[in-house]
Amino acid sequence: MKKATSIKISATSEQLAVEYMAGATIRGLAAKYGCSKQNISIRLLNYGVAMRHSTRMRPDRVCPTCGKIFQTRKKSQLFCRQECVRMKDTCIRGHELTEDNRYHYPGGNSRCKLCQNIRDADYRARKKARQL
Ligand SMILES: [Zn+2]
Ligand SMILES: [Zn+2]
Repeated sequence: MKKATSIKISATSEQLAVEYMAGATIRGLAAKYGCSKQNISIRLLNYGVAMRHSTRMRPDRVCPTCGKIFQTRKKSQLFCRQECVRMKDTCIRGHELTEDNRYHYPGGNSRCKLCQNIRDADYRARKKARQL
């Protein structure tokens, strides 16, 4: 553990606290006073300032398979869990997924063949457009 007292920056803790509570961000203060974000938060915590949550909450999404509301781990996550990805019966474009129109990948993922056709046609069209 680093001792908070060893941190030297040009602003006093009070100054930081006032600016922080006036709406300044940790990142902004760190940039302004030329020190790390960690330094700023330690100074603020030692001064007794309650931290705002810096991590933004990711949006809730409704799983199209089971209808459960879940928090996405990454932007592209559409389903709450891997089983729901496998069990889905429509693709992102809303095509019905039957055994005939889905590609299966090793690892359990599948992809809609109709969408693949659209992507292929799109690709060919763009390629053709470039050649003209
Ligand atoms: Zn689900
Ligand atoms: Zn599709």
